[in-house]
Amino acid sequence: ELFDVEIAGHMPQAMAIKNDGERALIAQIHMDRYMLPSEYPLIVDTAEGSRITDIDGNSYIDLSSGFGPHILGYRPKPVVDAVEEAVRKGAVNAIGNRAELELASIIAEAFGGDRNVVFTNSGTESVLTASRIARAFTGKDVVGKFEGHYHGWSDQGMVSSWFRYSGDPKEPTPVSNSAGAQRGVVENTLVFQYGADYSLERIRRHAATLAAVVIEPMPSMNLDYDPEFLRKLRQVCDECGVVLIFDEVVSGFRVTYGGVQTLAGVEPDLTCLGKIVGGGLPGGAVVGSGRVMQSARTTNDPFEDFATRAFCGGTTSGNSVSTAAGAAVLTYLRDNPAVYSELDAKTDYLREALQKIADEEEVGAQVRGKHTVFSIGFEYSKPALARDQAAGSHVKAMLALAYYMRLNGVYLPELHTIMLGDAHSYEDLDLVAAAFRKSIREMK
Ligand code: PLP
Repeated sequence: ELFDVEIAGHMPQAMAIKNDGERALIAQIHMDRYMLPSEYPLIVDTAEGSRITDIDGNSYIDLSSGFGPHILGYRPKPVVDAVEEAVRKGAVNAIGNRAELELASIIAEAFGGDRNVVFTNSGTESVLTASRIARAFTGKDVVGKFEGHYHGWSDQGMVSSWFRYSGDPKEPTPVSNSAGAQRGVVENTLVFQYGADYSLERIRRHAATLAAVVIEPMPSMNLDYDPEFLRKLRQVCDECGVVLIFDEVVSGFRVTYGGVQTLAGVEPDLTCLGKIVGGGLPGGAVVGSGRVMQSARTTNDPFEDFATRAFCGGTTSGNSVSTAAGAAVLTYLRDNPAVYSELDAKTDYLREALQKIADEEEVGAQVRGKHTVFSIGFEYSKPALARDQAAGSHVKAMLALAYYMRLNGVYLPELHTIMLGDAHSYEDLDLVAAAFRKSIREMK
């Protein structure tokens, strides 16, 4: 059943009420048997390899990778060396610097060579920057996005993301996922469905006002991608004069070097990057071909640029420490492509182990994912739409699992995808699987 998930304040309770009784396990989880994440905060003291240690001296295997950046694990030598050197040479920002140029050329090369790069400080800023460039390029105003996709914390980036959906799935009403979002920005957003031809038709109908469509080519919601749909989307955007933006903030250098677009063989006009390109420090970038990127302001000509080009930049965008860290990680990944096949193999190993345990323990959990990104969900089925998936998710069970896993020595990010890194060993993964079985039994 579709419904508008209107959650105010107490998300776990609200979701659980919808779903209780459907699964024996869930019905047995009571609020007094676990705590909300805010009640047992994790304060990290040190982090090394696959492990984090809190200020009380407890050590955990980390499954978050800091929401993505730490693909080489914590404290990797190439990054420590590069950051130390950048600081020793004198950290600079707001001035072109050697590390910035180096990272720009590595990124341009990864996405096909003849590319322009603009630096930002985060994934959120990358999407804001790309959207502005697209509006300057097209002279149009509206931005389209897909239901369930998160593009950072900006007013537009959070429209109809995660658990906030409303209206007819074919023509959703844009809803903000945050109090305080500007209504005009929210209303100036069109919301589509990934994989649906009717959404492509809707893009055609709105071609006159639609500046850009931004999409997570491999959505974090269901962790799969559809090359055929991405190809059709590319074609429709070309026909309609709409800038196609891939948000590869998560997937960019994680699923493979060069992102989902490399795997799917579909080239967007602009690609948003963050996380890994910051090497664990704040950082992000927009990369694209000169055709659209010419609308980014690259000179300081006050007479020409203000009217026709999009202002991009910020005091610390492209600073020499973040870019040195990012360049160190990307250089390592470029020169050691086996990292990706090893990460895929490790992730498959863990996913299969967890799914087997879930089946044996009869808890109805689905472990889904691709490449190094995966999630554990307590859902009834494999839904087609993001809103069905959200409606069928047992948020309470996911929170409880994170709590019990923590007690059993594993940091499982609450309500977020799991990402492995190069530092995870098979021994770590066996420990995670054992903790999962123990946690499930304790939850029952
Ligand atoms: N886009 C996607 C797909 C993301 O998952 C995120 C963050 O998780 C962002 C954008 C925003 O990136 P940041 O948190 O660095 O601003």
